[in-house]
Amino acid sequence: MSVATESAETFASLNPATGEVVAEHPVHEDAAVAGALDRAREAAGWWRALGVKERRLRLLNVKGSLARNLNRMAELIHQETGKPLQDAQLETIMAISHLDWAARHAGKVLGPRTVYPGLMAVNQRCVVEYQPLGVVGVIGPWNYPLFTPMGSIAYALAAGNAVVFKPSEFTPGVGVLLAELVAAVVPEHPVLQTVTGLGPTGAALASSPAVDKIAFTGSARTARLVMAACARNLTPIVAECGGKDACIVDADADLDAAADAALWGAMSNAGQTCIGVERIYVVDEVYDRFLGKLTDKARDLRPGFDREAAYGPITMPGQLDIIERHIRDALDRGGKAVVGGAESVRKPYVEPVVLTDVPDDSSAVCEETFGPTITVHRVKDLDEAVEKANRTGYGLAGTIFSGSRARAMDAARRMRSGMTSINAFAAFAQVAALPFGGVGESGFGRVHGADGLREFARAKAITRQRFATMNLASFSRTEQEMARVLGLITMIHGRRYKR
Ligand code: NAD
Repeated sequence: MSVATESAETFASLNPATGEVVAEHPVHEDAAVAGALDRAREAAGWWRALGVKERRLRLLNVKGSLARNLNRMAELIHQETGKPLQDAQLETIMAISHLDWAARHAGKVLGPRTVYPGLMAVNQRCVVEYQPLGVVGVIGPWNYPLFTPMGSIAYALAAGNAVVFKPSEFTPGVGVLLAELVAAVVPEHPVLQTVTGLGPTGAALASSPAVDKIAFTGSARTARLVMAACARNLTPIVAECGGKDACIVDADADLDAAADAALWGAMSNAGQTCIGVERIYVVDEVYDRFLGKLTDKARDLRPGFDREAAYGPITMPGQLDIIERHIRDALDRGGKAVVGGAESVRKPYVEPVVLTDVPDDSSAVCEETFGPTITVHRVKDLDEAVEKANRTGYGLAGTIFSGSRARAMDAARRMRSGMTSINAFAAFAQVAALPFGGVGESGFGRVHGADGLREFARAKAITRQRFATMNLASFSRTEQEMARVLGLITMIHGRRYKR
């Protein structure tokens, strides 16, 4: 459910293509956030006591409701972000598959399992289980306003927590609708509440002692503020931040497939994708052919808000200046625009821009651009490609196109990123069983998959003594007992190991 507020202050969510008001939403201040957290605490107790089977049933029914409301949700995403309706539908489909996976796998992943106690504690029966944290605060971005927070919300709920969700101020309606759908299926307690507002609403959530974990997705800059707020209460945090992902094209790659995937990775959603392709490193011998294919395809793309448009407007107006600055910096420093140029920034749209010969230390290569622009670089071989791909503080994801399975796997392992996909763009994001998260400036912690479920649970260890044996942790231990154990330890652990 969305949270009622006594505050008269509201803010508008706007369609970034038309500037029209999609809806007005309340600005939830500290007291409203605190109220939501109080209700969430009670809901968390009830949800936990409901048990894993009943939670699974409820969440599968939430998924069913989302599937039946797919077009309603997608239309709202389309209105609030400006992205094409089909992209919004695809986003909703991906969110549904995560909800399904989390609901179905929580029992097995988090349920109790016994572990072998080792010889020294052979009389102990040892159980590990993963218990809910309580109340999880989810702070979300606007670029994938359903899919991205669902990566935390579905897994946190499936792990037995209640959630208070603060959507981006650019896409509050998506959060409000999601909470409504959940409340209709789970009417007893508000296991998912949405609080709306700007940064201070998120700050109220992050700084509250009543929240047991924060799942933040957004920029590294805001992640630092959220961490600082969480530090006050030692509230743990998972941080999913930005990226500057690279695509590598090897000499024996399928160039048509590589150009198609790199273009989609760079330009879809107007380049506003955390795991979007921002840099392409192409091995020298196929550079010219690859660039030709890429630019031919890029010239065909047109932004707009109509059904034929390849992608929509820049959702956040302030980003237009950053995109233009990156293009100008690249050109001022010797880069060439082989498709588009600085004039491609036409508020609220940015036409496709492909840049070559851009210096490695320019902002277009080092900073997250978050626009439909791409830099293409010539490298002598795969090793140089990996080395240059890794020359960034970010480390979210990456793509490798290669005809050699062994070379691609080796390069994928060496890529400094949380996820790498070979011969496809971002295939990992569609697979709910795979963990998702970054390194360095891209954040830490994992959402999705079994790791994502464990991110919202705490490991609990329980031992039960089945029979008494000699007890060395007692003031009544004897010299003989100690000598026997020392002999045993030397026998078991004191041997030399051979290859
Ligand atoms: P942002 O950091 O501006 O905002 C994210 C959220 O934080 C919003 O809901 C905002 O209201 C809230 N917020 C702002 N100030 C806050 C504060 N002081 N305390 C608490 N919350 C606060 O990011 P954005 O512009 O919404 O999203 C774009 C960024 O998100 C990009 O960098 C993108 O790469 C990243 N992103 C990452 C992933 C991922 O999974 N790694 C996914 C999507 C987007």
